[in-house]
Parts: sequence; structure tokens; C-alpha cells
Amino acid sequence: MSPSSSFAADLLGWYDGNGVEMPWRGAGNPYHTWLSEIMLQQTQVETVTAYFKRFLDAYPDVSTLAAAPLDDVLKLWEGLGYYSRARNLHRTAQQIISKFGGKFPHDVDSLQELPGIGRYTAGAISSIAFGARTPVVDGNAIRVLTRVEDIADDVARPATQARLWALAEAYLPQKRAGEYNQALMDLGRLICKPRKPLCETCPVRSHCKAYAHGTQLERPVKAARRATPHYDVTAGIIWNTGGELLIAQRPLDGLLGGLWEFPGGKQESGETLEECLRRELREELDIDVEVGELFTRVRHGFTHFKITLHAFTCHYRGERDSPKALGVHTWAWVTPDALDKYSFGKADRLVITELNKRPTLLL
Ligand code: SF4
Repeated sequence: MSPSSSFAADLLGWYDGNGVEMPWRGAGNPYHTWLSEIMLQQTQVETVTAYFKRFLDAYPDVSTLAAAPLDDVLKLWEGLGYYSRARNLHRTAQQIISKFGGKFPHDVDSLQELPGIGRYTAGAISSIAFGARTPVVDGNAIRVLTRVEDIADDVARPATQARLWALAEAYLPQKRAGEYNQALMDLGRLICKPRKPLCETCPVRSHCKAYAHGTQLERPVKAARRATPHYDVTAGIIWNTGGELLIAQRPLDGLLGGLWEFPGGKQESGETLEECLRRELREELDIDVEVGELFTRVRHGFTHFKITLHAFTCHYRGERDSPKALGVHTWAWVTPDALDKYSFGKADRLVITELNKRPTLLL
């Protein structure tokens, strides 16, 4: 038995007795694999489990998802974050219907042509749902492989990435590739943990060079990240004289695309927060408002930056139908109790939570 096949045999032996039951595992259903893999990209297994079941209840197969209105999909996704995943999910479902007759392609090249499916997800669908011998390299696999091979190079470098993909392929067994890939990811999550690897109970310890050298905690090597930028962003909680609030739907493409928000935007240098809010409302909706008190301040982190959202109570005295969708997809006047029907991002949701706590300030 070659070293790589004995590694795979040890890992699969462990997986057979310790693999974790998950609602998307075992069915060999590419729709389930795809849905779960997209959800798992930025989210923990425990959270995904509940969302996965909700999605399957609402959209039991790819055709029901493709036929659903995007707003409904975004609403169901609310709370999972990284909303481009939900938009891509919807577009991919539609393309599977229109281009592939409702059937998922088996090969990684065709899969990677679909929105939101990269090399990792294509490998996961192809191996887990169709049994193809295709590797996967996610964060867990990177940790295990860099430790097993004791790789001291920065994992963000393209050369290291290429080496990891080649290693992942070399270690793949001839059979049970899908289960092997799941085992590798489970091992990374449950045993080969980032800060406290459980080496004493690890089924592949005898193959692990980092264990032999005592360098586990130094792998994987990641170059220091630059400081995350921070932006101040304003939002208007804009009341009309009829007790309704103005909300806007963001453009469908881009950050938080298609989600609703309290209109506003990023502060530019040299302007006050109030000036920023007035400018943004003119640019996005062509309206002037009276900017009142600061209602609340909310902090939120995205992948590459952080924001502080300053939400101001505002009053609008103009015609109800005067706003124009200049920089937004569309807008609506809604009563406060109707806000829950719309999909909002996390920061705006926190503002709504505050609105619900302080109803005396609504008008
Ligand atoms: Fe990870 Fe330790 Fe197992 Fe090596 S021996 S793969 S470091 S848990």
C-alpha cells in the first residue's frame, strides 16, 4: 500500500465509525450537496442545519427554487449573511433548468461555469453526489494537509495553493472519493482543530510530519493580514406624515444586492454625518428630508471591512410618490409592523430591533 493510500484507508476507517450525520449527507442528491455546500461556505454546520431544512421545506428541488421569486429566496436566507450566495443560488437553479434540463452536470468544468460555484464546490458536488474522483481543498483540508506534510509556506500564495490541490488529488483514494473528502473535512473540524489539535486521538497521526516535528500549531502559515478598513455609514429612518417609513431595495448586483435597507450611504471625507445623509438621499432617491436626532449606532463587520452605521430619525414632508429610484433598485413606504416582511442585512436588522424596543420614538 502506498503512503497516500494508507493515509486514505486510515482516514476512511475513522470516518466509518465517527462520521457525523448531517441532513444533506448520504442521499447522493446533488441538489442537497450543492445547497449545503453553498450554505457552509461562510457558516457553521449547526446554523446551516436549520436553514437547510427550511430551504428544503420551501424548495424541495432545483425546479421549485428556480421558479421562486428572488425576494422570497433572500427572505429565507436572511440571517445567513453573504447574500451574494443566495442570489447565485437562485441564478444557478435557473441555469440548471434552462441549460441542463434540470439535471446537475457531473464534471467540475461544467459545474464551475455556474454562478457561485468555484473549484472547491464543484469538487464537492462532483465527488460527494456523483462519486467522481475529484479533490476538495477548503479551510479544514488546508489545515490537515499543511500539517500532515508540514508545509511551512504561506498558504495564501498561489504556488502553495497549487501544491495543496495537487496533494489533495494525490491523497484521493481510487474509490469512495466523496466519503474521503467529507472525512478530510470532518477530521479538520473535529480533530485537527486550529488551536487545539487532538493529536493523541488522531487517526492519521502516524502520517503527520508536523506531529513528528512538533510544529502543528505553526501550520498552516498565514502571512499577517493588513488592518481591516472601517467606514462610517449613515441611514435615515424616514417618517412621512402618515406614520410610514421609507425603505429602499439595494441594486440587485453588488454588496447586499437585492436586500432592503434604511436609505443612506458612506460618509465622504470632509462632510458631517448629516451632510452625508442628505447627499445620499438626494443621489439615491432625489428627496430632501429634515434630519433629526441620532436614533442609534450599530457596528457590523463584513469580510474585508467594518462599518459603523449611524441611523438618524428623519421627517419627510414631500409628496408620498416623489422619491425616484436613482441609485436604488426600488423603494417603498411601509408601516413599522410590515418591516419583517422584507429582507434586510444584519446592520439594518439591528436598527429594526432597536425600533421595536423603543416604540415611543417611532413618530
Ligand atoms: Fe492534525 Fe495532530 Fe492529526 Fe497531525 S496528528 S493531522 S496535527 S490532529
